[in-house]
Amino acid sequence: MNRISHWIDGKVVGGTSGRTGVVFNPATGEQAASVDFASVAEVDAAVASAKAAFRAWRATSLSRRAEVLFRMRELVDANRKEIASLLTAEHGKVLSDAMGEVARGLENIEFACGIPHLLKGGYSEQAGTGVDVYSIRQPLGVVAGITPFNFPAMVPMWMFANALACGNTFVLKPSEKDPSASLFIAELLASAGLPPGCFNVVQGDKEAVDRLLTHPDIEAVSFVGSTPIAKYIYETGTANGKRVQALGGAKNHMLVLPDADLDMAADAAISAGYGAAGERCMAISVVLAAESIADELVAKIAERIPQVKVGPGNEPGIEMGPLITGEHRDKVKGYVDTAGDHGATVVVDGRENVRSEGFFLNPTLLDNVAPGTPAYDDEIFGPVLSVTRVHGYEDGLQLINDNPFGNGTAIFTRDGGAVRQFQFDVNVGMVGVNVPIPVPVSYYSFGGWKASLFGDTHMYGPEGINFYTRGKVVTSRWPDPSTSTIDLGFPETR
Ligand code: NAD
Repeated sequence: MNRISHWIDGKVVGGTSGRTGVVFNPATGEQAASVDFASVAEVDAAVASAKAAFRAWRATSLSRRAEVLFRMRELVDANRKEIASLLTAEHGKVLSDAMGEVARGLENIEFACGIPHLLKGGYSEQAGTGVDVYSIRQPLGVVAGITPFNFPAMVPMWMFANALACGNTFVLKPSEKDPSASLFIAELLASAGLPPGCFNVVQGDKEAVDRLLTHPDIEAVSFVGSTPIAKYIYETGTANGKRVQALGGAKNHMLVLPDADLDMAADAAISAGYGAAGERCMAISVVLAAESIADELVAKIAERIPQVKVGPGNEPGIEMGPLITGEHRDKVKGYVDTAGDHGATVVVDGRENVRSEGFFLNPTLLDNVAPGTPAYDDEIFGPVLSVTRVHGYEDGLQLINDNPFGNGTAIFTRDGGAVRQFQFDVNVGMVGVNVPIPVPVSYYSFGGWKASLFGDTHMYGPEGINFYTRGKVVTSRWPDPSTSTIDLGFPETR
């Protein structure tokens, strides 16, 4: 049985806690590997290694840090297929989707290659007579990343690329469900020339997470995962004096106005609803269909569903893979089981003709899904797309703004005025205009509002650079010593 262990101080370190987890191949339902779960002592060893490496890494020149990132960029690029194959094997997402995940993660490494430019400060000459003032940004120290199962390569890249570029050292606690990508990334970083200790991986569960949240040498924590855990991470981390950004779950609505191109909207609903089997925090979960076009839109979505090819992610041509575990598949299926009891119509029933092996559920379409029912209220995180009918713009906007989550949303229309009003009105962090999955490019920042984010800082891009650095302002005078006098008054600038 393949065993997945930790990466501490530049090498693989076998776990000694005696606690392990099961890693499945979701396409077969069989156990693929076992993953070591870190003890407090093992987390401490990783943090100690990162702390020891920090002093030299932060003193490493910006050009040299950028050089390591450029090399990492080349290595990830050269190993796209290998990384994607690991994702498919443990997560289940289809290979083309996994390649997309690697590509979007790579963008963040490319962004971080520009660190010499990104860390430029401000400078004000003659702020007072003979006095100059300038600002610099400095790294925090050892920072931790805790990541979810659904993007085992991209989400760590959201974090470590900027964190390392800024001069921090990093401890990653990946999802225990698909941990292999983390070790592969660690090996690539070492090959890129990152010194031992700058990047560590501790595999594990709550025990490892709790130690990171309370460890006195961890300065900041980046988290991506479900909302209850994000809230817990934020509260516990900040109570222990750490800077925390904790991204939570989502319930993303796609508002389709009567003038939208309905074929385009139906294609988008299929892509964003069933891609990665709905296991994306930016997946479209609810289509808000204006009444006048709702029947036509539902028909167009329904007629496309049989074309979606479901199967093992490593088989050519397959478009949708299995869910992450059998337990999660059963939970998702439960929403379909009870949808009728809550007044919804099962238009396409994904429980039919399901593959017998693996954790599969076929694409499912529910219509007339009412707010206040489980399929509407919960983040299902599976291939179940709900349609909720609305009178029009105001009604749709109200539902989106009433929702406790605020990660992503999309509007489909040809009306520029409606779009402008929507981006002005909507209480959501990432908005798509005829784009169903508006994940920002790496030189903007990613983050939701409301229950989708705890903390003030969005992830990656400019906000990522801010998160991983502290500002310092220097007020400096290099006077002619002959002009020096004693003056006990408060310093003035005029
Ligand atoms: P999760 O919250 O169960 O786990 C995330 C991480 O937290 C994992 O590393 C896990 O080991 C750890 N964890 C789990 N339970 C814990 C506990 N009780 N105490 C301490 N640590 C714990 O999330 P998941 O199921 O891996 O991922 C899916 C969720 O992530 C969805 O809700 C999805 O919307 C969300 N997500 C959000 C974003 C975003 O950017 N907002 C991106 C991807 C995923």
